[in-house]
Amino acid sequence: MKILIIGAGVGGTTLAALLEGRGHEVDLIERSPDFAKSGYALSIWPLGSRVLIGLGLIKQFRQIANPLGTYHLRNGKGDAINTYRLADKISVHGDAGTLSRKSLLELLRSKLSDTRLRMNTSITALTQTSASVSVTFADGRQSDYDLVVGADGIHSKTRELIAGHVPLHETGWGGWIWWADNGVIPVDDVTEYWGAGRFLGLYPCKEQLCVFAGGPIGQMDIKTHRAADIRDHFKPIAAALPSVFDALPDDTNEIFFWKLDDVRSAVWSEGRVVLLGDAATAFLPTAGVGASNAMESAAVLADELLRVEANTVTRALRLYELRHRKRVQAAQTESRNLAKVMLVSSTPLAWARDELMKHYPVDKFVADILKSLEQPI
Ligand SMILES: Cc1cc2nc3c(=O)[nH]c(=O)nc-3n(C[C@H](O)[C@H](O)[C@H](O)COP(=O)(O)OP(=O)(O)OC[C@H]3O[C@@H](n4cnc5c(N)ncnc54)[C@H](O)[C@@H]3O)c2cc1C
Repeated sequence: MKILIIGAGVGGTTLAALLEGRGHEVDLIERSPDFAKSGYALSIWPLGSRVLIGLGLIKQFRQIANPLGTYHLRNGKGDAINTYRLADKISVHGDAGTLSRKSLLELLRSKLSDTRLRMNTSITALTQTSASVSVTFADGRQSDYDLVVGADGIHSKTRELIAGHVPLHETGWGGWIWWADNGVIPVDDVTEYWGAGRFLGLYPCKEQLCVFAGGPIGQMDIKTHRAADIRDHFKPIAAALPSVFDALPDDTNEIFFWKLDDVRSAVWSEGRVVLLGDAATAFLPTAGVGASNAMESAAVLADELLRVEANTVTRALRLYELRHRKRVQAAQTESRNLAKVMLVSSTPLAWARDELMKHYPVDKFVADILKSLEQPI
């Protein structure tokens, strides 16, 4: 089959890697001009790392990711709330590790040899007949495909073209990401500070420590005196972590403000066009499972595509959706529920949450992830 994958992110690149050597002609296009930026840290759970086993990449993953060992929960002042030994619970199901998005994409791209990757490329229109999809690229060129996969992320153009406008689910929170040298926590420790109207996450990757500092958008989306204001917003923690906050880029440096939104599309496919990953069901970073779900979805779609030819491809798309939509949406609901607990603005509510979390057992903390690992896909 002649297949176009739109978006060389986590889901699109995983799918391209899985389709290698299967006799397909695959074009993978990416809107960004290059892969230079590290992006942010991704924690990959066995949902995703199991796919790397199938791709023969698990040994390399272990070399480039920090194992996910212990999760430390602290309050907005920096006091310890609870400590969860994640490794004890998760390792029986496979690998869990933290790495930069850039490293994960590099790893996945190492499997691409027949795939034609084109950077700086996007689409403007999709026109379907029962036999093919005609794609118009942003530079005006046109090409016909048997299958088009929209793996173009939360603000998917493909989704807009097949499903129209789908509103974002907005938490009203957002935050800044930057990278600092890690002299502050062990490499297999993830540490999060859940405060009232503030959230700070420290995710150690091999290169550096990824820092996410979030809060209600009105208080956090600061354009001038950004570094000083963010430091002020996180005062007690910033004082305890000077090297982390010293690395915060000042106003003159380009730095992206992430809104904590997600999206749930009612339409996953239309004819020969199908959505994958965040384009279909985007994730808040609260549970840290969006990338793993995108990888698992890619594995399900690739599996279904093994059993069809160009004339029956829509059948594979229907089965992919039947197998995976409910599971992905359940995981998304869990990450939304977690957001209600993590992203709290009121001081009394944050205090009550902290008291509850002091006694919250590890089995409950990882219950949703463990449940999903026990279920068939
Ligand atoms: C701050 C943050 C932290 C996160 N932490 C975690 C975590 O710890 N663990 C986890 O599992 N998940 C995490 N996630 C979620 C995770 O990043 C996503 O769920 C995952 O990347 C989804 O994969 P995807 O392939 O669908 O989209 P993406 O990886 O976003 O890839 C989409 C790609 O499509 C490209 N693109 C967009 N539009 C077009 C177009 N029109 N034409 C061509 N290309 C296009 C984009 O440039 C991008 O490369 C986090 C997300 C954020 C924002």
